Amino acid sequence: MKIRSNGIVIAIDGPSGAGKSTIARLLAERLDYIQIDTGAMYRAAALLLSRANVDLSDLVAVEEFCRHINIRLELISGRQVVHANGLDVTDQIRTPEMSLLTSRTSTLKPVREALLKSQQQMGIKGGVVLEGRDIGTVVFPDAEVKFYLSASVEERARRRFEELAGKGELVTLAETIADVIQRDRQDSERDIAPLRQAEDAIMIDSSRLSVEEVLASMVLLCRNKIPDLESLI
Ligand code: C5P
Repeated sequence: MKIRSNGIVIAIDGPSGAGKSTIARLLAERLDYIQIDTGAMYRAAALLLSRANVDLSDLVAVEEFCRHINIRLELISGRQVVHANGLDVTDQIRTPEMSLLTSRTSTLKPVREALLKSQQQMGIKGGVVLEGRDIGTVVFPDAEVKFYLSASVEERARRRFEELAGKGELVTLAETIADVIQRDRQDSERDIAPLRQAEDAIMIDSSRLSVEEVLASMVLLCRNKIPDLESLI
């Protein structure tokens, strides 16, 4: 198995609310790897498109716009900061409206092509944990370790609802369940890079598992697959 200069590529895909971001962050910390939250990149692109009022039905305009977007992820004191064209958009990209808009803009080919390239550049040397919807299938089909993290709709909506309520967002659990179902549908039914489990991905259902349990099983599976990692973990 090839080991890239900075380590391996670990892909974590799955639907929204399955706990990918938390797990990806902890796994990256554990391995001293870089976490790449590709959902945050799609969210930042959606925010830029909406702020610039780009007509999403005009793919030429979207493509032209995407040529000039620059999205950077930075870890500052343990907190992931998202920069879009130089502006800190970390908080603005996390609203329910942005979640649904992102699910729409991420169906557009020019958006996907632009972000695919930058994600591949960010991860090519390895030493990364990438999380998203199409990492194991499209972005890094040759990732050394692939996980597909899922959970029931009810459990994913409950987690999301608690996160939003904690931030003071005025949403109901019923609305959150409806949003999760709609995003699942948009993400898995789109033509380009739909959400699906790669054939060689290890499926983990986190519905009844704690974060620590999911992390422990991932670490174990990584260690079994890549003996060279042993010394790191
Ligand atoms: O992971 P997160 O919920 O932040 O992702 C927001 C949206 O970005 C998803 O609903 C999906 O539409 C899109 N996305 C994607 N491909 C990825 C990551 C996210 O299409 N690799």
